[in-house]
Amino acid sequence: MTTQTAQLGQATRATGRASGITAMITVALIGLGVVFVTGHVQAGTLHDAAHDVRHATGFPCH
Ligand SMILES: [Zn+2]
Repeated sequence: MTTQTAQLGQATRATGRASGITAMITVALIGLGVVFVTGHVQAGTLHDAAHDVRHATGFPCH
């Protein structure tokens, strides 16, 4: 019983670590996608907002 619980705990930790890395990669890709997509969109307000973020973060612009 104790051994089963310990093994279950290790499996849960390993799964939690893997899903945490997956979550970090997913969020990073979404964030980069938002920056790049909104930076190239033609709608004025959206473009200006992304443009301000690009300048604020030192991203190469004009
Ligand atoms: Zn600019």
